[in-house]
Amino acid sequence: MLLSLVIPVYNEEEALPFLLPSLAPVLAKIPDCDYEIIFVNDGSRDKSWTMLCEAAANDPRLKLIHFSRNFGHQPAISAGLDFATGDAVVVMDADLQDPPELLITMVERYREGYDVVSAQRTIRHGDSWMKRKTASWFYTIMRRMVDPRLVPEVGDFRLFSHRAVRGLCNFREQHRFMRGLVAWLGLREAIVPFERQPRAAGETKYPAHKMLLFAWTAISSFSAVPLRLSFALGLTLMSFGFLYSFYAVYRMLFTNTTVVGWTSLVALQCLFSGATMFLLGLVGDYIAHLYEESKDRPLYVIDDSRNFPPAMPQPRRALYLPPVSPDTDPRRQL
Ligand code: UDP
Ligand code: MG
Repeated sequence: MLLSLVIPVYNEEEALPFLLPSLAPVLAKIPDCDYEIIFVNDGSRDKSWTMLCEAAANDPRLKLIHFSRNFGHQPAISAGLDFATGDAVVVMDADLQDPPELLITMVERYREGYDVVSAQRTIRHGDSWMKRKTASWFYTIMRRMVDPRLVPEVGDFRLFSHRAVRGLCNFREQHRFMRGLVAWLGLREAIVPFERQPRAAGETKYPAHKMLLFAWTAISSFSAVPLRLSFALGLTLMSFGFLYSFYAVYRMLFTNTTVVGWTSLVALQCLFSGATMFLLGLVGDYIAHLYEESKDRPLYVIDDSRNFPPAMPQPRRALYLPPVSPDTDPRRQL
């Protein structure tokens, strides 16, 4: 069989020296298995691309995709899946937090007939208390709002059979949440527990604000629950407002203390205008998503590659700009 590894890389010059030598020895232990490793360089601004090119120059099994800029972790994974040719494809991080040794067990499960083999984190070494807590909230909220089939503590470290990859490559939406797409597909899934190690080197490329954005993408790309909640919240506040206005009319008619109500007036004004702005913003966000989808822009732009056949496949909603060959470059002929 042919196993493809897909590894997104964003400013990983510190981690690559650990990652590159660690893969081949493990892959050699998998019986009857040839491999290709697809590195997707997601617009790194450090030496990652140079380091990858040096490694790929000596090994045709290393294939490189270079994005024109940073498109994000999820589009990088999608590009890797688009160009992987293996019977099975594994997506893993470049920082060795996903231990390569687990590949052996994952391939065993795949050979037992599973389409998706997910690595589940039992312990997260090296992640801060905050990261562990937010991750646990993330999975709870996602299971409630996105899809109850989402497996807790399963990230993007997964093996997909060729059929599963074909299924996933059919989703071409701009705001992507791969874990949700996998759950949505509903293929037969095996779970392999593992202890997540700290990063080999370097720092996380998912700081708090990116995590929040990721969580919001996950919710809004899969679920209209926030819109429905906003409707319910708006209705509740409106009913509350009605009751209060009856009370205000009653006080005006039957008491002589109307001016005293200034505080409650201001409080209510703040509450309602705040709620209106919030709900409008929520609706606006969904409209923005519609707007972005309707533009039908590519999910990523590839502006260089290594060790792929000259005629690269052209996946739907993706842009591959072939590198200019020195012989045909008009600027050389001037
Ligand atoms: N990554 C990427 N593009 C980004 C952010 C991250 O390709 O915009 C890659 C990164 O190089 C790593 C993987 O995605 O291989 C996961 O990122 P990271 O390890 O920083 O996330 P964490 O494990 O801390 O959640
Ligand atoms: Mg990591």
